Amino acid sequence: MGLNTSQYDAIMREYDRVRLNHKRDLDERVREIYNKIPRIKEINDSISSISVAGAKRMLLDNTGNTLGIKDIKKEIEALSQEKASILRSNGYPEDYLSMRYTCNTCKDTGYDGHNKCHCLKNAIIEILYQQSNIKDVLKRENFDSFSFSHYDNTTKDAATGMTALENMHNVVKTCRTFIDEFDNEYRNLYLYGATGVGKTFLTNCVAKELIDSSHSVIYVSAIRLFEILAGNTFKRSNDNAAPSSDLASNLHDCDLLIIDDLGTELVNSFTASSLFNCINERHLRQKSVIISTNLSLAELRANYSERVFSRITSNYTLLKIYGEDLRMKLR
Ligand SMILES: [Zn+2]
Repeated sequence: MGLNTSQYDAIMREYDRVRLNHKRDLDERVREIYNKIPRIKEINDSISSISVAGAKRMLLDNTGNTLGIKDIKKEIEALSQEKASILRSNGYPEDYLSMRYTCNTCKDTGYDGHNKCHCLKNAIIEILYQQSNIKDVLKRENFDSFSFSHYDNTTKDAATGMTALENMHNVVKTCRTFIDEFDNEYRNLYLYGATGVGKTFLTNCVAKELIDSSHSVIYVSAIRLFEILAGNTFKRSNDNAAPSSDLASNLHDCDLLIIDDLGTELVNSFTASSLFNCINERHLRQKSVIISTNLSLAELRANYSERVFSRITSNYTLLKIYGEDLRMKLR
């Protein structure tokens, strides 16, 4: 999936457009004020000429003598204060003649230093979601549409001593805590149980809550995950455009990674080692993962090696979900 170059360019053009609009708005405000309050123009002109003079003096004076610069700073400071107070007394905010930004972190450039700004990450993820159709799914599958009524409350499970309904209440409670504490506590969830008991629905509920609170969430089926990881491993040598590997790098640094239906892919030594690398990398970064799977813990150990098993059993909250196959029940 990933972003191709033209999608990345489209995002960057949007930043250009946003900056241009803010600049036009600023020019408009400047014109307005210069018309109404000519003194402000005089002050701005003075500040510019003093700054230019200051720059020249700095060039000439190479002896480390900063006295002149201090005076210039003082002068500019005094003029700025006068400007602010004139604006205030005319009923304008002090920063009326300052550039405004949609994102103050990156000043609408998309980059905070060398790093992608949160707004750029969100824009990229937005496009990635459009491609994966997750938004449509989340409109249907979320906590508002979640229902306990499909879970049986008569038969107790031999292993847990709880009915499917009682168990589901516990599971949902754990998921709610996971969401509520998401920014404070690093946690992972391992949801396992038979097909059709509501694991994917529940992970969608969590995804929606966290996306709505502007967390970056990447949702991938296990099959897709290993395709991406394989692509990233085998194509790295000719990967010259950074945006095309965005999805692969987002797998490592998005706030939450959801791996759905682990075990449905073709399991081999590559999947075992890349699953370990993926969850290990996220563990090192203290970034949460939710895994949903039909595999029992014994099958997990047999299919993905001891180190995957040990990583998951020691760092993940294990949530077994059971009940009737909802897909049969709802038909
Ligand atoms: Zn930004």
